[in-house]
Amino acid sequence: MNYDRIYNFSAGPAMMPEPVLEEIRDEMLNYQGSGMCVMEMSHRAPVFEKIAKEAEQDLRDLMGIPDNYKVLFIQGGATLQFSMIPMNLMKNGKAVYIETGAWSKKAIAEAKKVGEVIVAASSKDKNYSYVPDCSDLDIPEDADYVYICENETIHGSTYPVLPNTKGHVLVSDQSSMFLSKPCNVSDYGMIYAGVQKNVGPAGMVIVIIREDLIRDDLDNLPIYLQYKTHADNDSMYNTPNCWAIYCCGKVFKYLKKIGGLTEMQRRNEEKAKIFYDFLDSSKMFRGTVAKKDRSLMNVPFVTDSAELDAEVVKATKAAGYDNLKGHRSVGGLRASIYNAMPKEGVQALVDFLKKFEQEHK
Ligand SMILES: *Cc1c(COP(=O)(O)O)cnc(C)c1O
Repeated sequence: MNYDRIYNFSAGPAMMPEPVLEEIRDEMLNYQGSGMCVMEMSHRAPVFEKIAKEAEQDLRDLMGIPDNYKVLFIQGGATLQFSMIPMNLMKNGKAVYIETGAWSKKAIAEAKKVGEVIVAASSKDKNYSYVPDCSDLDIPEDADYVYICENETIHGSTYPVLPNTKGHVLVSDQSSMFLSKPCNVSDYGMIYAGVQKNVGPAGMVIVIIREDLIRDDLDNLPIYLQYKTHADNDSMYNTPNCWAIYCCGKVFKYLKKIGGLTEMQRRNEEKAKIFYDFLDSSKMFRGTVAKKDRSLMNVPFVTDSAELDAEVVKATKAAGYDNLKGHRSVGGLRASIYNAMPKEGVQALVDFLKKFEQEHK
């Protein structure tokens, strides 16, 4: 069916796979003979419990999540995790953070309210346009964890290799790269992702946490902020974001069907190559991130003038390529090409930019 959909390059909430949206449409008024929409269901009803259980199992299958990790569906987005992480994981009151852009900066600011933060490496000196060398970090013996934002959505960098944590627990914000490629979960103590970038509707974060990191000595912490609360209650201590769980579950099944995360990575690399090859050959546009650290998902780029950048944003929007304006904090342009952006969308945008360049020489 033709819904006049456009290629939406939004950084989040962002595109979802069309077959998933169609399935959701078909089930909207009556979910699989239940006589109701998923939005209308009790989260305690067996029909919804099955939806939640299957979503978790499909995610476990996709990522190969080991049995000693819990999968939690929590509200408050990725932002609440900036606080929950130090509140729950700082046993010695000390943690190491790597600063690579806007989102790690925010996480650092929140962690500082809870304990001592050691910024062991930063790319601030070059406006967060690269990922610093993290092979030999200065990590105090008693640091509780090492924190990274694995894909910086706004600045467009990603880690080519994970930091050497020297035996310390690694905590990673994967919000804007979640499920974009295979992930070896046991390299991490905790992975989390707000789902609205690469998976589903906004308003939920998925936390994958090693069981031994979940503490039961935090009675003074508000109950909702303890990982233990969510782990002990299968993410249903209170009413969860049922709708997001349902939609994410659909996306997990879709990813399994197309060949899992290996296939997703192949498609994402193919898409990103089309874009970066264009930027590298263009005389008008250039990427802003060091080649070795370029994100597969968020591609920031600029011309030599802010006026021309603005003109490009206007022209692309008029042509049906929306949300290419760079984040207000950095300017320029940014194309977010998450899992659900088809190759055809990237190719069409690149063709448009090529033509724009020809016409504006
Ligand atoms: C979007 C984003 C967040 C914040 O997500 P919310 O769900 O809006 O709280 C955090 N980290 C990264 C890397 C993001 O891209």
